Amino acid sequence: MTDRRTFLSASAVVAATPVLAVASPADAAGMPAGRPAGLPKQAPDRELKALLQEIDPHRVETIVRRLAGFGTRHTLSSQDDPVRGVGAARDWIYEQFQAYAATSGGRMTVELQSYIQPPASRIPEPTRITNVVATLRGTGEPGRIYVVTGHYDSRASDVMDATSDAPGADDDASGVAAVLEVARVMATREVQATVIFAAVAGEEQGLYGSDHLAQQLKGAGADVQAMFSNDIVGTGNSHDGTAADPRTVRLFVEGVPTAETPAQTSTRQSVGGENDGASRQLGRFVQDVAANPQTGMDVRVVWRRDRYLRGSDHISFLLRGYPAARFTEPRENFAHEHQNVRVENGVQYGDLVEFCDFRYIARVARVNAAALWSLAQAPGTPKGVVIDTTQLTNATTLRWQPSTAPDIEGYEVLWRETTAAQWERVLVVGNVTTTTVDVSKDNVFFGVRAVDRDGHRSPVAAPVPG
Ligand SMILES: [Zn+2]
Repeated sequence: MTDRRTFLSASAVVAATPVLAVASPADAAGMPAGRPAGLPKQAPDRELKALLQEIDPHRVETIVRRLAGFGTRHTLSSQDDPVRGVGAARDWIYEQFQAYAATSGGRMTVELQSYIQPPASRIPEPTRITNVVATLRGTGEPGRIYVVTGHYDSRASDVMDATSDAPGADDDASGVAAVLEVARVMATREVQATVIFAAVAGEEQGLYGSDHLAQQLKGAGADVQAMFSNDIVGTGNSHDGTAADPRTVRLFVEGVPTAETPAQTSTRQSVGGENDGASRQLGRFVQDVAANPQTGMDVRVVWRRDRYLRGSDHISFLLRGYPAARFTEPRENFAHEHQNVRVENGVQYGDLVEFCDFRYIARVARVNAAALWSLAQAPGTPKGVVIDTTQLTNATTLRWQPSTAPDIEGYEVLWRETTAAQWERVLVVGNVTTTTVDVSKDNVFFGVRAVDRDGHRSPVAAPVPG
């Protein structure tokens, strides 16, 4: 990154004691302030590296085959047949989570979270919807929460068809397998913040399970700082004659927040920030911590809420104002999704296990594990970040609330050109709650993140004018 004339005078930084080695306030020779932030990525810590190695493609395969083996997991299929249908799948997933919880020293608890959905467009009669939820309680800040889901219901060509085979191997046994496998390897470890692993139900009928989960959390005033939906993460090979892309997973992140208020709209229209919502910051964070040799994956962030004509469970969380994103494979084969199992003109239709790549799913699980671990071990995203607009000045004063993390080291201020996609500059400002930088807020976008004593960095929070 070239010098963008972002010079910092010695007097311009309030209490800017550098706490990490690299950046220092500009010297008298006029060195640019801030370390260029095409920045080295946050490398996995030792414990995360070990955790990633425990994620096992063979276990992923067992889970996908078992879920596909229930014949159908349609929301309107049997809830009490022990062999076939959504109820058998629910009970099997519950048993898996319970086995993981048994290794957690009491930190992980498992519940069936259910309610009766009244009739709706894809629900002909009152229907019990049941999420299977495993909660790994944080030992440092249990009130700070991260959520990861896959949906365990499936469908055939007709969304109301509860009897035809609907193996749902890719959509979405793959996502459930990723969630289960991450839950298994994290259960044995202490994490600072709470992580909720959920196999949600009723997605194909209208995101019912995740809607219920998100509403329960919102109703309880839960501080959910990030949520990921894993939906269709079965393979990097679309089996359509194009080259496989087995080292890429897409991450869909919205721009203008779904839950934006009229006042926020007004601010955005005034000073911009379309690419600085909490979900966009989450996308940058995942690229920073999870696209690396240890996961073996690249994260292709897509700046839209979801694909054309499609949606997933992250939308339930976006509707409540929680930062959320969706993982999905790089290129889909639509003959393998939402299709009855059949051969037509020599083409195999249906969401079959044979089209899944278990090593790919395991890598997606590693990406999730890297993101969740890094989020849970770092301080939370800074809150109450304000950019001072009480007077017209070319300097920029930022302030924020102190972190509640017990091992907080300090904060970093980041900025970038308004036309840039990624952060370009970072300045270590110490354990303070306000700082002034001699860079005009009119010319760049700013953000603040928190850093702990082990060097774990939080997602960036964009300031609001105040
Ligand atoms: Zn799906």
